[in-house]
Amino acid sequence: MFENEVIKDLLKKYKRLWALGHARALMGWDNEVNMPRGGSEERGIAIAEISTLSQEILLSPEFTSLVEKASKQEDLNDYEEGVVRVLNRDISIMKKIPPSLLYEISETSQRAFHAWRDAREKNDFSLFSKHLEKIVKLSIELAEKLGYEKEPYDALLDLFEEGLRTDDVVNIFSYLKPNMKKIVDKVLSEKYYYFDSPLEKERYDIEKMKQVNKEVLDLLEFPWDRGRLDISPHPFTNGLGLNDVRITTRYEGFDFKRSLFSVVHEFGHATYELQIDQNFKMTPLASGVSLGIHESQSRFWENIIGRSKQFTELIKPILDKHLGFTRNYDTEDIYRYFALVKPSPIRTEADELTYNFHILLRFELERLMLKGEININDLPELWNDKMEEYLGIRPKSYKEGILQDVHWSHADLGYFPTYTLGNIVAAQIREHLLGNNFNIYELVNEKRIRDIKEKLKELIHKYGSTYRPKDLLRKQLGEEYNPKYIIDYFEEKYVGH
Ligand code: MG
Repeated sequence: MFENEVIKDLLKKYKRLWALGHARALMGWDNEVNMPRGGSEERGIAIAEISTLSQEILLSPEFTSLVEKASKQEDLNDYEEGVVRVLNRDISIMKKIPPSLLYEISETSQRAFHAWRDAREKNDFSLFSKHLEKIVKLSIELAEKLGYEKEPYDALLDLFEEGLRTDDVVNIFSYLKPNMKKIVDKVLSEKYYYFDSPLEKERYDIEKMKQVNKEVLDLLEFPWDRGRLDISPHPFTNGLGLNDVRITTRYEGFDFKRSLFSVVHEFGHATYELQIDQNFKMTPLASGVSLGIHESQSRFWENIIGRSKQFTELIKPILDKHLGFTRNYDTEDIYRYFALVKPSPIRTEADELTYNFHILLRFELERLMLKGEININDLPELWNDKMEEYLGIRPKSYKEGILQDVHWSHADLGYFPTYTLGNIVAAQIREHLLGNNFNIYELVNEKRIRDIKEKLKELIHKYGSTYRPKDLLRKQLGEEYNPKYIIDYFEEKYVGH
């Protein structure tokens, strides 16, 4: 895979950067899963120091000149070019941002996070608004330093999804918005997927639910010798290496689909990392290529596979064995519970159908903020107006509205659209597979999960970060982000049932 001598030398030097990243990832995981609360100050400093050390190595003349030399090599293969591309991108981003700005952003978001938590608890937006104002100001400054083609938002989107532009997101939503609206209206009036399921209220024993999650992961052939499942308040996946990928879920004691589908979602993220070509171990290619492509893998398993009738049927015996109360419901009841559509003001509780409206709303507000076209104090009202327009519900508090997400306090403006990208790419993959006579639903029926995993490995996973997201999609699916297929999927599932 890596034959060029300069590239080999570069990868040898890169190992130190990889190791620092590995340490940081482990510290981050420990932070969420194990660490006593009191450790957070020291851990924060340790992580910040390690990040600074990584930057110093990345930007050192020794390393950058080697990357430069590698860039000038001729006849590099795709993987070698991928290595050069990823490192050049990292270096160029780091070089453009003055350390003082980086420091100010990190310090501001540290304080903003605490203010946000406080504001949310007290349901008082005014405690957070000043911080948000400063974050917007710094984000605009960051965008100016990074440079952009049309508007500042382009620069921020690109940080999370290489090559993604505001125009791409505008195009996606101008197709999604009217089409989603039609489907949601129909679902709400038909009430087949929109109803109160008694299963939402059924309480479960946490130890029993852990057994369910474990057995579902067994069924999905999760490699326990290369992965773990733990508990954290916000489920996540952490890839420490290609053979150590850790996922988490939470247990609330009721509405068991939340715990279950967090597991299936994170399993999708983990499988992407675990199926990257082992030759990429400890190289810049050893991770999923972008947030959007990563999210496509989690949504594919959570929604397209997980919330299907076939999957429901497959795991029903596991539910019956451990939870017991599911024996009082037939497969159809449980499937409708899994696929329930319910407009909610809270994004993280949204079903797959209404979810993208939550992202559209945030995208529109972020764009206004970055263009300086809105006063921060007008945001909560606008948020609520949009929520009412899109989903017919008006948040009753800031907590249910503008203060619900952590992202803005972390200064992560431009992150949200990658969630919708994940949804639409998952549907593109579904269409690609079905269109090529690879019937995922039949395979689930036949319990041939390994075949599906193998297919996704060949299609997306094995390449790691070799190709830019748009290039990967063009190469493997024949086109870039296309929102048409998710609407087709929604229509088939929710309208044509
Ligand atoms: Mg995810």
